[in-house]
Amino acid sequence: MRILIVGNGGRESAIAMKLKNDKRISKMYFAKGTVTTAQLGQNVYEDSVIDLRDFAIKERIDLTIVGPEAPLVDGIVDEFKKHNLAIFGPEKRAAELEGSKAFSKKFMQSYNIKTAKAVVFDAYQDAIDYVRKEKFPLVIKASGLAGGKGVVIAESLEEAESTIHKFMIQRIYGDAGIQLVIEEYLKGFEASVIAFSNGTKLFPCIAAKDYKKAGNGDKGPNTGGMGSVAPSPEFTAEHFRDFEENIMNPTLSGLNKQNIHFKGFIFFGLMVTEKGTFLLEYNMRMGDPETQVILPLLENELFDVITDCIEGKEVELRFKNEKAVCLVMCSGGYPRKIETGYEIRNLEKVKHSDVLFAGARQVGDRILTSGGRVLSVVATGDSYEDARKKVYEDAKSISFDYEFYREDIGKF
Ligand code: ATP
Repeated sequence: MRILIVGNGGRESAIAMKLKNDKRISKMYFAKGTVTTAQLGQNVYEDSVIDLRDFAIKERIDLTIVGPEAPLVDGIVDEFKKHNLAIFGPEKRAAELEGSKAFSKKFMQSYNIKTAKAVVFDAYQDAIDYVRKEKFPLVIKASGLAGGKGVVIAESLEEAESTIHKFMIQRIYGDAGIQLVIEEYLKGFEASVIAFSNGTKLFPCIAAKDYKKAGNGDKGPNTGGMGSVAPSPEFTAEHFRDFEENIMNPTLSGLNKQNIHFKGFIFFGLMVTEKGTFLLEYNMRMGDPETQVILPLLENELFDVITDCIEGKEVELRFKNEKAVCLVMCSGGYPRKIETGYEIRNLEKVKHSDVLFAGARQVGDRILTSGGRVLSVVATGDSYEDARKKVYEDAKSISFDYEFYREDIGKF
């Protein structure tokens, strides 16, 4: 089997690590891949949907797995299917559940999926009139993809009005701000559940916890994720039942009613409050850094799960009774202005963990930082403390100039 994995982050490094010992896979290609994937297969530089399609035909790729959202929203799955190329991911129409917050909110409302109360706006003045009558805080979201930056929790009317102006009139995120979703603020803790879809059924993984804020104790600005743990210690069996009954099952019936039979990953971003589990968002892909902690605990062969889903078969997911912790090491300044190009040293001293590269590049025999989130350090253990100790001991060995990371990942 020849496999192509699209993406170039820690998530794709983790997928590659999970597949690397599968004897059925003769070659793995990665577009564009990472320093980790270059050690496990071949990184290639095709980028557009058409170039990737031509590459898959030329190299006789048996299965393509798509990591990030951009190629999905660009219709990579539709294009591959037209050419009978096996691919795991949602078609463009299903990718809208992530690509448009207005579309996904209307979907949630139509199928009674438990979510924050919200109104969708197309006109600036209507949005302004609405917030003048509401209480604060209020959550204002640009409908389109804005790289995780299009969500503002407005604490006052002034902040709400200026946010609406920035999104809809100044268009700071371009067309992403043409429509807005304005929703009720929910207070609680967040959890992530990723499910595999076989076209008609969803198979959920254990819940994970993602640490979004840059600083210890959840202080500072939002980031792409500073670390993660699985299973989430806060998300109880009762929360899981609530999720299945009020979010996952109605999502499945909504997808079926709309004739959306996609085969791929669906990620549920959840907020758990005193009133139970609410859906904040769908992503039609695996989360990063959640993937880094879920896959090491998955007992099934990932290749089997994906091919069974593609064939429309039932799958039974099994997870180890262990804990996984992932710590993301970042370049100084992240998520704001960063400096890169520093050598990552002492990797040979890592003893207990997997190092999964993301924002790093190989130059000769040196590895240099090249992005905000440089690498993930991942370990499993019998307890969170056990996994956490391994990860931090190894993170302390690794060194590069201006490195920084949170000290409290997996500490409960
Ligand atoms: P991501 O970067 O995870 O893809 P996103 O930009 O697509 O996020 P959301 O997940 O909808 O947007 O929101 C981002 C974050 O804003 C959430 O993880 C959560 O912390 C916060 N948030 C969103 N909606 C609400 C809400 N109704 N109440 C409280 N906090 C919220």
